[in-house]
Amino acid sequence: MEFKGNRVVVTGKEKYEADYLFSALPSHVAGKLLDEELLDIAHTSATVVNLGYHKSVLDKSGYGYIVSSQESEDVLGVVFDSNAFPREEEGTRLTVMLKKADLKEEEALDSALQALRRHLNITLKPDVTQVVHAKEAFPQMNVGHLSKMQAIEKRLKEKHPNLRLVGNYLYGVGVEDCVLRAKSVSESFFKTVDS
Ligand SMILES: Cc1cc2nc3c(=O)[nH]c(=O)nc-3n(C[C@H](O)[C@H](O)[C@H](O)COP(=O)(O)OP(=O)(O)OC[C@H]3O[C@@H](n4cnc5c(N)ncnc54)[C@H](O)[C@@H]3O)c2cc1C
Repeated sequence: MEFKGNRVVVTGKEKYEADYLFSALPSHVAGKLLDEELLDIAHTSATVVNLGYHKSVLDKSGYGYIVSSQESEDVLGVVFDSNAFPREEEGTRLTVMLKKADLKEEEALDSALQALRRHLNITLKPDVTQVVHAKEAFPQMNVGHLSKMQAIEKRLKEKHPNLRLVGNYLYGVGVEDCVLRAKSVSESFFKTVDS
């Protein structure tokens, strides 16, 4: 992929021309194309375990929990997917996020099931399991991050006035942060560009 001039993006297959461009690429990809300083943003990885039970095994309400980094636990957090996204059929769906990246499938499953037993007293074997490696998924906003991002945005505005960056590495990692960022960028962008 390549940005040409101010309004053109060329990918391996197509050439796109637009009045305005928004890059929602991860920082390690945007960094290669737009500003090398984006490559300096450190990320952490995690192993994600999805578990499905035909029976209801969860006696808690709510959407899940996060484990404090002060705890000596393998788990970052657990999402109660069947509470957050209920379906008609009975059963429980859970996502366990583990701190260690690149765990082998068996190790990850074992770790997740042990945590569920400790934290939630769930001892039943899941009917469906899936292990996914979320590589370089969580950008780390270290001291000085905000001013670095602002400087990058300023440079990019000068180079590509019709382009803006959105994504989790700029000003917040959560989905809500990403949506708010995209909303504010699009609103301010259309007001200022070409004016
Ligand atoms: C396991 C996990 C659990 C999470 N849980 C929560 C949660 O409970 N609540 C919450 O608020 N947030 C959560 N987050 C964080 C949040 O989901 C992410 O930070 C956010 O979705 C990232 O959005 P994004 O648009 O920046 O990136 P993405 O959604 O990753 O979008 C990046 C896009 O770039 C594309 N792309 C990548 N490389 C290229 C390339 N070379 N060429 C073209 N396209 C490319 C990808 O295909 C993708 O579509 C979680 C994240 C993870 C990994």
